[in-house]
Amino acid sequence: MRLNDFKISENFNLREFQCPCCHTVMLHGRLLAALQRLRETLSRPVVITSGYRCAAHNKAVGGVKNSLHMKGLAADIAADGAVMDHLRELAHDAGFSRVIIYPARSFAHLEISDD
Ligand SMILES: [Zn+2]
Ligand SMILES: [Zn+2]
Repeated sequence: MRLNDFKISENFNLREFQCPCCHTVMLHGRLLAALQRLRETLSRPVVITSGYRCAAHNKAVGGVKNSLHMKGLAADIAADGAVMDHLRELAHDAGFSRVIIYPARSFAHLEISDD
């Protein structure tokens, strides 16, 4: 069995959140809970395109200096046109404190507050 390769909620595996460069992972329970709620509301797969990032990876992908991806408090998900319209509202309902949608790049950044 590969490291981090196990189910952590009904629809997510820890592996989906690990840093692509070093396989380190940190994930806040409230971030996972909000993603799972969003998954259930959408009734379709939620694809994590970026979960935890170590400092080196965050720099490599051009993340902001204090990115919450480095604290296990943020995740990016793939978002296509059909979902985009309602995503902001649904994500706030699911418990995310901040939602940034990047329509041209078909993804959304979702984060929870760290308190
Ligand atoms: Zn890394
Ligand atoms: Zn992000």
